[in-house]
Amino acid sequence: MVVKGNTYNLELYKDMYTWQEGDYQVFRTTQWSAPGCHNGCGVLFYVKDGKVEKIEGDPQNGWNCGTLCMRCLDILESMYDENRLKYPMKRAYEDRGKNKWERITWDEAYDIIEEKVRYIQKNYGHESIIAEIGTGRNVWWQVPWGCFAGLQSPNQTGAFLSGDSCYSPRSSILALMSGEYLTSDMSQMLPDRYESKEWVVPECITIWGCNPIMSNGDGYLGHWIVEAMKRGSELVMVDPRINWLSAKAKHWLRLRPGTDAALAMAILNVMIKEKLCDYDFIEKWTYGFDDIAKAVEDMTPARASEICWIPEQDIIDAARFMATAKPMAMHWGVAIDQQPSATPTGQALICIAAVTGQIDNPGGSLVTRSAYNISLFSQEGFEDNITEEQKEKRLGMHKYPMRGTGISAMAHTDVVLESIETDGASNDCEQYPIMMQWMQGCNPIANMAAEAPRVYEAICKVPFNVVVDVVMTPTAMACADLLLPAAMGSERDSIRAWWWPLRAITKITDYYEAHGDEQILLDLVNRLNPSAAPGEEVKDWVNDLLANHSEADFDFDYLKEKVIVWPEWHYYKHEKGLLRWDGEPGFNTPTGKIELRVDWLEANGLSPVPFYEEPHESPYSTPELYKEYPLVLTTGARSYEYFHSEHRNLPSIRAFHPDPLVEVNPETCKELGLEEGDWVWIENQRSRCRQRIKFNPGLDKRVVAAEHGWWFPESDPERLFNVFDSNINNLTTQCDIGKSGYGAAYKCLLCKIYKCTEENSVITPTAQVLDKGGFKYERKRLS
Ligand code: SF4
Repeated sequence: MVVKGNTYNLELYKDMYTWQEGDYQVFRTTQWSAPGCHNGCGVLFYVKDGKVEKIEGDPQNGWNCGTLCMRCLDILESMYDENRLKYPMKRAYEDRGKNKWERITWDEAYDIIEEKVRYIQKNYGHESIIAEIGTGRNVWWQVPWGCFAGLQSPNQTGAFLSGDSCYSPRSSILALMSGEYLTSDMSQMLPDRYESKEWVVPECITIWGCNPIMSNGDGYLGHWIVEAMKRGSELVMVDPRINWLSAKAKHWLRLRPGTDAALAMAILNVMIKEKLCDYDFIEKWTYGFDDIAKAVEDMTPARASEICWIPEQDIIDAARFMATAKPMAMHWGVAIDQQPSATPTGQALICIAAVTGQIDNPGGSLVTRSAYNISLFSQEGFEDNITEEQKEKRLGMHKYPMRGTGISAMAHTDVVLESIETDGASNDCEQYPIMMQWMQGCNPIANMAAEAPRVYEAICKVPFNVVVDVVMTPTAMACADLLLPAAMGSERDSIRAWWWPLRAITKITDYYEAHGDEQILLDLVNRLNPSAAPGEEVKDWVNDLLANHSEADFDFDYLKEKVIVWPEWHYYKHEKGLLRWDGEPGFNTPTGKIELRVDWLEANGLSPVPFYEEPHESPYSTPELYKEYPLVLTTGARSYEYFHSEHRNLPSIRAFHPDPLVEVNPETCKELGLEEGDWVWIENQRSRCRQRIKFNPGLDKRVVAAEHGWWFPESDPERLFNVFDSNINNLTTQCDIGKSGYGAAYKCLLCKIYKCTEENSVITPTAQVLDKGGFKYERKRLS
């Protein structure tokens, strides 16, 4: 198969799985970036004497077309970093926080786990064990299965990401409104990519709340957008920050963070008032258009302009372009999830795609499923190993019923936190304490946990903790009793399909005693509940998935040889009866249409149509607070170098980006007497952290953008690698989430900044947390 659309001389590259090239054995496979990423790109590993010595992008792989990010290009540093965990280790409970580890064997580790789990199951119930996952480590189908089949607990969850503010909000509202997931069409479903006759170059790509060039988030590569731009696509970019994409956009809407719903509703207002919608599509394929028209009636561009800090005419112009450009692809990201109004904002964005008729058309927004309908994430068959009675004990399911949709089989993170804090007294189901955490591929206190110092207290309160990771992390140092070394991409067999096509990850090297995430979970299930295990080897598990939970007619060995396989793709599936269980035309919703008005939401006490809610802490909702903290704070923008809290330990990567950065408009800095490169304290009513000023003249003078994920692997492990010093999640909050249970204010808080001096830096945030009893303020509680 010839992959078109890249500029490589493909004659020079082979498309077989492995071959000899001089001293090197070359392997074509898929790399799950070291160690985490949302993708899985085609690579060539050059192996000598059992060691990878070189990596290249694989031009024969139509997913990434030969292109690799700097993180994968620097993979050797990652794989052979001296700080990687080499052996299972244990530590005495009373030595938590101390660097006092004892090497043990895998069998000893499993013995300890089995004994503890059985004791907890017998005395407290299976549900007293929580399995926690981070993002991006290719453990999102493995850990849930290990939790349900092995631990037999219903409580697997994202690791303290308040409001489950990543992907779950999107997946839930998309499932309710469209019956599926939507993603923008950059030809990624078609093996011959940009040259495919079926694909149409989008006239407009609307990119809302994400920067795919840096993040490559959610099974989607940013350079696909660049390829579309080269072929004529123009951008509508909705982002508070100027970046490479917004600088090149036809329309850049620089909104105040957290006001996305108002902007989306105003865009709908223009489209509807000016009759720019696709009325044929609306008539045939949507439900509730009149309700939407009414819901957005008052959100005029003039009103949205005041709310969002965007010129009125810019909103009107962008709306007209989005409505008239054919096709128009909508792509939205995590910024929508990371605000308390995640759900109503998602509702408005789906309405935009639907009223313009840009659904499942070439170059539009695609209705997508996993390749070969393979059952990954939390889909069919995943929960077979837990009883209905157990499911009733899942934390947060009663309080937030919307969690039964989309990526559904997860306990709610804020409810889990409160459950730990109150020994189960605050549970929304039967009361039980949390006695054990299984933490795999997550480092919450350095990365995703809002209110990190509060979460630090909580994770240390749990009596028994197992951490599975590739390096020693602040989280592991803080609370692990057992630490298991995980393998990296070239050291494990696995499969990858987020969403399309299906790819093989193949084990070609070993690293000391590190085991693949899949093997560890399979071993766990074989120990605890062998009847649920599909075998003893990962290949058995993957073959079981392919044979019994997918439409594939091949096994892992075939996939490994092919590296990447593409099922047949269909556009306009709703017209062809390819979406509904009954085989009839339509969407997989109760009405068979895209539900612009969602009756299910109304029946569950939520708004059936979009609405605007001011961020909970803002210049308008908390004017007194704003006097003290006069800057709007948005956090968590991605960089080229780092994947969340990862890669800080790699010298080459760190040389590009040595310090945490807060972006500020130079004029704001001038008013505050600050220079580029100054270390500043970023502070609000909860806490503070320090980062260095980076000028961003494109940022609104009233907004600052701070990085997340910072810890300092070069510093003392017993000070938790100074994880709180530059941690922007000292300032974020838990338990202040959207009514649907989704969304927390990672993107829309208030703060002030001021220069770090010797006098005001005597007590660091890490010292405050570890030595002084933490920061004192009133903690929010779930209402
Ligand atoms: S998106 Fe980048 S970091 Fe992720 S697997 Fe592909 S090349 Fe590696």
